Amino acid sequence: MVAVAIDKNKGSQNAVKWAADNLVLKGQTLTLIHVNNRNHSSPADHQTKEIFLPFHCFCMRKDINCKDVVLGSHNVAKAINEFVSHAAIEKLVVGAPAKGGFVRRFKHHDITINITKGAPDFCSVYVIGKGKVSAMRNASRPAPATSPLRDQLLAESCLISLKGAVLTSPLSLSLLSGFSLSRMTNSGRTMSRCSATKSFAELCDTDLLLISTDTTDISFVNSEQPSSENALSLRSGSEGIDQDFVAMQTPYKYTGNDFSLMALNTDGMTWSPQKMEAVEEEMKRLKLELKHTMDMYNTACKEALTEKQKAKDLQRWKIQEEKKISDAHVAEEAATAMVEKERAKCTAALEAAQAEHRLAELEAQKRIDLEMKLAKEDEEKKKALLSLAHGDVRYRKFTIEEIEAATESFADHCKIGEGSYGPVYKCYLDHTAVAIKVLRPEAAGKGRSEFHQEAELLSCIRHPNVVLLLGACPEHGSLVYEYMANGSLEERLFRKGGTPVIPWQFRFQIAAEITTGLLYLHHMRPEPLVHRDLKPANILLDKNYVGKISDVGLARVVPSSVADNITRYRMTSVAGTLYYIDPEYQQTGMLGVKSDIYSLGVVLLQIITARPPMGLAHHVSSAIEDGTFAEMLDPEVCDWPVEEARCLAEIALKCTELRRKDRPDLATTVMPELDRLRAISEDNMLYCKRRS
Ligand code: ATP
Repeated sequence: MVAVAIDKNKGSQNAVKWAADNLVLKGQTLTLIHVNNRNHSSPADHQTKEIFLPFHCFCMRKDINCKDVVLGSHNVAKAINEFVSHAAIEKLVVGAPAKGGFVRRFKHHDITINITKGAPDFCSVYVIGKGKVSAMRNASRPAPATSPLRDQLLAESCLISLKGAVLTSPLSLSLLSGFSLSRMTNSGRTMSRCSATKSFAELCDTDLLLISTDTTDISFVNSEQPSSENALSLRSGSEGIDQDFVAMQTPYKYTGNDFSLMALNTDGMTWSPQKMEAVEEEMKRLKLELKHTMDMYNTACKEALTEKQKAKDLQRWKIQEEKKISDAHVAEEAATAMVEKERAKCTAALEAAQAEHRLAELEAQKRIDLEMKLAKEDEEKKKALLSLAHGDVRYRKFTIEEIEAATESFADHCKIGEGSYGPVYKCYLDHTAVAIKVLRPEAAGKGRSEFHQEAELLSCIRHPNVVLLLGACPEHGSLVYEYMANGSLEERLFRKGGTPVIPWQFRFQIAAEITTGLLYLHHMRPEPLVHRDLKPANILLDKNYVGKISDVGLARVVPSSVADNITRYRMTSVAGTLYYIDPEYQQTGMLGVKSDIYSLGVVLLQIITARPPMGLAHHVSSAIEDGTFAEMLDPEVCDWPVEEARCLAEIALKCTELRRKDRPDLATTVMPELDRLRAISEDNMLYCKRRS
């Protein structure tokens, strides 16, 4: 058996620590002896408990059982040695005296020395200072095999009364002066109910008490704190108890479950039967109380389990609810996002609808404008037709303002040429490209009514090979013609401005086209219309190189004096014009359709030779006779069908006969031959097109 004498000082702590490390194994029991030398103190008082508390904690951590012994005596060393002797303690550990420790507390005695000296010889005494053995006294004989107090301690008796022993043993002498012994729990609380302990002590009239927890019959409950905490701690290690719960509820570990009181059967120590009965009564009462407590405890356990289960269920329910809430949040967020998306879509759709609406409005406005414009045009047409029906105006009449606006007040950049009657401007009227010929003042001086009449007549001339007179401005003396994109035949033949060479196929077609136009003019009723001025400069080409005769009937628009003057002027001054004029007309002054055929002959010769008109008929005729006709052909064209070109030349030469009667008829002679040549050119073009 190992015991440590303790007090509330550092030396005691060192002693217990050393004993735990060196003398006591895990699971073994260490007896802690404290001598209470205060008057009127009890083993269960607060100060005594406080002394034991740190040692209990330490032992619990070291997994060492400890038994608390409280001795009441004014002579500490003597009390300890007497207890050691009675309990047959084999090893006693004491703290070495330290300054301010034992020494201060027990001024008149050196307790350590006295214990060492007075300890029974079967007990080894270890004095521990600074964690080491500072002094030691070995046992000189083995400890007695039996000792009543020792047996009780070993059997872990719970409560021992030494009343009898008090009277006879040395220990009892000291006990008379207030010696008491009490067993304390590891938890640091007084194990016994205070009231029970007191009443028991009173009953037994005892001075020495041992209280243990290891007997089977009596359990105890701290009546001051009758909580489930205590109840649970009593049952630690029992089946069905949640160890964690217990550990959580109580910081200390109990080594036993029950509690009993037993009379110590020592020499001369007896109990009266009445007292035994009283003890038994008390034990029964305590048993009942314990049973009741255990029942309460079981109920509390069950309730605890139920509550625990409920808590678990609640926790599960809480998790589920939280999940539901989080799901609901997610769903809400998704719904919000969806709403936002839909709202954006709606806004976009609304904007698109508004844009479409605006577009529709614009379209509607446009349509209204167009309809108004068409209605206006219709109105104008109707007016024109009405005026035609009344023999009023057959051509489109333009105002001076319209002409000025179209020509940008006759701007130079709009001017595309200038002839004998005045300048020509390219511009737009009613979104149509037109050529406006502005007659010089003297040319326009015929008088408005006459000009008006002639313009009306000319506007009736409609033929694909005659340049169309679209309208006129009688006040200004301007004539508005359809615009011919490729200018005059003269410009293109002589490649004015570096324009491309006209292929022979086009030339054959142009020859046939202008002959067709001329034929139309000559066949006009009531009398044929003689052009009087046919020449390459008056043959215009449209964007497709279709040849059209221009300046048709112009001589009629201007005053005859002006026309004659112009003719005279041309014949004398204008280079080239003379060579197109019928020689018979020159001799006789008589003008007829055959005069135009002469001019046509010269034009046809120029179409294939691209040479000046002067003496051209003679040159070509000589070349044919000399067999050098091919050399007369326009050298810019490299693939002439010489034979066909010669045919064209021969018919042209016939047209240029000096006498009118020798000249061929357009309809019966010239036209069929030119139609044939046109067909050849068209076939050739088709062939070439197919080949390419
Ligand atoms: P003249 O008046 O002595 O016969 P000309 O025929 O050359 O000479 P205009 O008929 O006034 O004079 O033409 C002058 C030029 O204006 C032409 O050479 C031609 O380039 C251009 N021109 C005339 N009318 C049109 C038209 N309808 N389309 C395109 N260009 C034209």
